Amino acid sequence: LADLLDVSPNEIIMHCMNLGMVVSINQRLEASTIELLAEQYDREVVFVDAEELTDDIEEDDDDDPADLEPRSPVVTVMGHVDHGKTSLLDFIREAKVTAGEAGGITQHIGAYEVRLPDKRNITFLDTPGHEAFTAMRARGAQVTDMVILVVAADDAVMPQTIEAINHAQAGGVPMVVAINKMDKEGSNPDRIKQQLADHNVIVEEWGGSVQIAEVSAHTGAGIDELLDKVLIEAELMELKANPNRKASGIILESKVDRGKGVVSNILIQKGTLRVGDPFVAGSYSGRVRALENEFGERIDSVGPAQPAQLTGFDGLPQAGDKIVTVQDERTAKEIAQQRQQIKREQSLRKVKHVTLDDISRRLALGEVAELNIIIKGDVDGSIEALAGALQKLSDEEVKVNIIHTGVGAITESDVLLASASDAIIIGFQVRPSANARKLAENEEIDIRLFSVIYDAVDAVRDALEGMLSPEV
Ligand code: GDP
Repeated sequence: LADLLDVSPNEIIMHCMNLGMVVSINQRLEASTIELLAEQYDREVVFVDAEELTDDIEEDDDDDPADLEPRSPVVTVMGHVDHGKTSLLDFIREAKVTAGEAGGITQHIGAYEVRLPDKRNITFLDTPGHEAFTAMRARGAQVTDMVILVVAADDAVMPQTIEAINHAQAGGVPMVVAINKMDKEGSNPDRIKQQLADHNVIVEEWGGSVQIAEVSAHTGAGIDELLDKVLIEAELMELKANPNRKASGIILESKVDRGKGVVSNILIQKGTLRVGDPFVAGSYSGRVRALENEFGERIDSVGPAQPAQLTGFDGLPQAGDKIVTVQDERTAKEIAQQRQQIKREQSLRKVKHVTLDDISRRLALGEVAELNIIIKGDVDGSIEALAGALQKLSDEEVKVNIIHTGVGAITESDVLLASASDAIIIGFQVRPSANARKLAENEEIDIRLFSVIYDAVDAVRDALEGMLSPEV
């Protein structure tokens, strides 16, 4: 800071003392302190986000429509535990992928591509469940185009089914329902459809827009129909990408392999990544040393909506980091180093999520026009009453959205959803789990606990009308 202001470090240290702070020469200052100090020198501070540095290396997002080509949909399987998510993914992988390829899938690369006739392919993410989906979203990465919601026909719509529905809806991702375990006795698809309708997921045959297939992950019955419906949904979405541009994609996962060094599973979203391309992801860079597909085969390039395992990183990038190619390795290194430095300097300043205390200020500044709320409670009745009362607080200036409700303690999954959707969490007669509390602290998510409905409604109303009752 002293260098930037062109004064001696001692002078800065003196100023800090005058402000009541004892600092040392290599101490990192908080943003607000830096602003205060700069003010004394009539200088203005502009803080940039580490990721903003990539803006200049990414080409314009507007591809010429003429360059866009259809791409495969990327699908995540979600649903309640034991309803058959893993079995469904396994069946499809074995029946639809292995058939055509000699050795079969030999390695896990985070996703696999189902190659169907007429180049109508589907890419499945290997990690089922809404946690991975929402964790990616919380990091700003939208990987999934579509969700297959698995519900067991011999069971019912369960809490995690509802969570999955809410997580998909909060992400604006359409769903195709797979009613699974149709081979089992006691399976009752109509009951499931009714329960889904109760949660506003109305299937086509009942006049809604959600496609549904009755399947068995054991016998394979109905799976072709399910894949067909996924493709129909994908056609409606007109998913396209330009394969002939510099590549960008998302890191699905990375690990250190004893033989290969850092290996990352990636999913390309735009352009084509080739062996030899220099790239940056998060605060690391490299040059593509090798690409492999799910069959363990070396490949030369990977295009939109395709997964690959990449070696060539100089560090361990995080899941959800964006990977982009740049003109040369030197630029890649420079950007990565800049980002590392900025990240170090910004470790004190995280993304700020909405809180009840600052919503009125942000409303006044026009920064937000909505308040997203997650409600967890001890019983359905009080959750519904509270949700209804809170929704009524919406007016022209601010819309109150209840994006998820559920019975039970506040979980990490709730906190992730709040982080991905910039929401606050209200607990009615329930508390957060220890892990959820820790995550909420890290993510700076506002959790409010109440035991009286009126108190909760009053607190939100007061926050929305905050301008009328300034804090003293
Ligand atoms: P997940 O927790 O949603 O990933 O569920 P799993 O795929 O692990 O399946 C849970 C249990 O249900 C396992 O014992 C599976 O063998 C069984 N299962 C899954 N799909 C079917 C099906 O279509 N029919 C029958 N009968 N059992 C199934």
